[in-house]
Amino acid sequence: MATFEDVKGVVDDYYPLYINGQWVHGGDGERLTVTCPANGEVVTTAAVATKEDVDAAIMAAWQAWPKWRQVSQQERYTILLKIYERINAKLQHFAMVEALNCGKTVSGAVWEMLFAADQFPYFASVLRTHEDGISRPYHNVRSLVVREPVGVVGAITPWNAPFIMAAWKLAPALAAGNCVVLKPSSFTPASSMELIKEIADLLPPGVVNVVNGKGSTVGQWVLDHPGITKLSFTGSTEVGRTVGHAAAEKIIPATLELGGKSAGIYFGDIPEEKFGDAVACGVQNILMLAGQGCSLQSRILVEDTLYDRYVEALAGVFRGFKVGMPWEEDAQMGAIAYKSHMESILGYIDSGIEQGARLVCGGHRITDPPFDKGLFIEPTIFADVDSKMRIAQEEIFGPVVVVIKFHGEEEAVQIANDSVYGLGGGVFSGDLAKAIRVAEAVRTGTVTINGALSNPAGGAFGGFKESGIGRENYKTTLDHFSQLKTIHFPL
Ligand code: NAP
Ligand code: MG
Repeated sequence: MATFEDVKGVVDDYYPLYINGQWVHGGDGERLTVTCPANGEVVTTAAVATKEDVDAAIMAAWQAWPKWRQVSQQERYTILLKIYERINAKLQHFAMVEALNCGKTVSGAVWEMLFAADQFPYFASVLRTHEDGISRPYHNVRSLVVREPVGVVGAITPWNAPFIMAAWKLAPALAAGNCVVLKPSSFTPASSMELIKEIADLLPPGVVNVVNGKGSTVGQWVLDHPGITKLSFTGSTEVGRTVGHAAAEKIIPATLELGGKSAGIYFGDIPEEKFGDAVACGVQNILMLAGQGCSLQSRILVEDTLYDRYVEALAGVFRGFKVGMPWEEDAQMGAIAYKSHMESILGYIDSGIEQGARLVCGGHRITDPPFDKGLFIEPTIFADVDSKMRIAQEEIFGPVVVVIKFHGEEEAVQIANDSVYGLGGGVFSGDLAKAIRVAEAVRTGTVTINGALSNPAGGAFGGFKESGIGRENYKTTLDHFSQLKTIHFPL
């Protein structure tokens, strides 16, 4: 069994900022202290950027841009493939870094690393087939319609999946010929810094820069800086609104990948031999990442004819779910990323009880040793939940699922759509036509039929409603990182 001692060496004691191809210490010597949420141990520190460092990063990006935008498609393709090879060769390393910093299991994090690596060959391929156009509006005029990069992208990422979110932004931004200033979450800078360490020599100085620090300071400086010509943000809806305002103020595009409260819909007609799969999906689609995933299905809608049996089966698996230290091979679920977030989850559990939902299992912080030094919450199920309750409307972002009863297809869709969010979702049914009708009727960016949630490259990912604007992980993402120019040739 792996121990903390085995994994703690995967991170450096200290990460400087990365600006203009140099590791620099940052203006006034301030540091972020990063602790492991599973045991409270300090695992690393990182330099905090000052406003001058943010200025320097953006200036370096603009200095690099004229050359970088002229790098041929073929050459950029080759660089992206080399980035892929570097990540792919160290999947386990990056997974351990991510687990140590975020509290998630190493085994789960490996999947994220695979998907993150795959962004680079995916966008390398998209780049090679992303052809510009020519039209003939009159017999003596030719119009070339060409794509140009937007310039310098401000990329801001959340703490729940910092490595893959950095990859989702860097791969298309670089493929399209942009330079990037990345601001990772101040809770989880380690994996982004390890990524940059690994790939820095493949990119000219200034093409990618990283500034660490709090969102309210460093993040806001990135948003407001006149040198940023595109914002690519993943995080909460609340901060997403601030990002949208900043973009509006400067008249620049913003991609906003925001919160969710996705519904998995389970119909009474699930064939007997598929019932076990349907329960496994219900479990997997909320408990992976200990519920700290934007498109996880934190609302389970079950048809009245199946309701009691489904809740009982779900509870059976939740009760036996192995919570463990992230580095333990048999751990199925790890920790909550930071203390105030854990307190917020526990607050939602209290609110569910106060509003009259039935607590079926879990509901507490785990305080038996060795969990007492970390931030762990039991896998929790609320049944008999009304869609208007806070626990059914607000994003809890923890290992807490609410199970809501419905009668018939129409009510299932109505409850699923009774949300300000529209990010993910699922349908489980023995009737494929019905499943497709429902998938089309729910107002969300992604729906999975009869299966567990997965977001491989090539599946457009993004939100309806307050879950965001724009799509990542798809060929059209390159369009969001570029703009069209028309060059007319009167002959
Ligand atoms: P968050 O609080 O919105 O923070 C996201 C990022 O924005 C962090 O880097 C944060 O920095 C920074 N930030 C905060 N205030 C800022 C400001 N005023 N200006 C500029 N940047 C600012 O989100 P989170 O708590 O990290 O992540 C959880 C949320 O992300 C959930 O709502 C989840 O659903 C969402 N999410 C969405 C997707 C998706 O693809 N749709 C994927 C993953 C997560 P600090 O952390 O340093 O404050
Ligand atoms: Mg937050």
